[in-house]
Amino acid sequence: MSIKAYKQTLLEALYAPYKRCMQCPLGNQGRTHVVFGSGSADARLMFVGEGPGRDEDAQGEPFVGRSGQLLNKLFEAMGINREEVFISNIVKCRPPNNRKPTPIEMSICKKLLLEKQIKIIRPRVLCTLGSSALEGLLDRPVKITAERGIAISYKDTPVIPTYHPAYVLRNPPALQHLAKDIQTAFEISQFDDQLPE
Ligand code: SF4
Repeated sequence: MSIKAYKQTLLEALYAPYKRCMQCPLGNQGRTHVVFGSGSADARLMFVGEGPGRDEDAQGEPFVGRSGQLLNKLFEAMGINREEVFISNIVKCRPPNNRKPTPIEMSICKKLLLEKQIKIIRPRVLCTLGSSALEGLLDRPVKITAERGIAISYKDTPVIPTYHPAYVLRNPPALQHLAKDIQTAFEISQFDDQLPE
């Protein structure tokens, strides 16, 4: 069995008990699917967004609506294969009316699923999309305009924070920053383990 297949088995075992999860308030607020994430179980680069929207909730896949289409366009322009990265969210269930997840919802879901996904996948780089994703990851308030593009560390994994694609759709001048940050995260994820002698 390949490492990737082994990690996929671990991810499926992780998800199995939570397909109808009710561990936080989002479990009974109208979600259709628990949207765990998609992509390679052995990804070098992992994206973390805020939570599923209407399209994601309906299809059970992350970033399939307009934000996902923007991500796909950026990936294509940069030569990033979406199948080779992993895309997930801080909370796996859609908040009603697309409200921001509460700190308690983010904290519960992160401990239950995201932290374990990161442990299994062991990406070389995390790229957070939007302020909520970074707030949820770091458990502190964030001013994304000040923090985007500046590398930080989460449990020894480098993090490149950037804007959420939905914000960029509303504020087109921010597209250049989103593209630059994703490019930076991708380049770091491609570094070899060994530095040259
Ligand atoms: S958001 Fe996470 S913790 Fe809350 S019900 Fe959904 S899967 Fe469970």
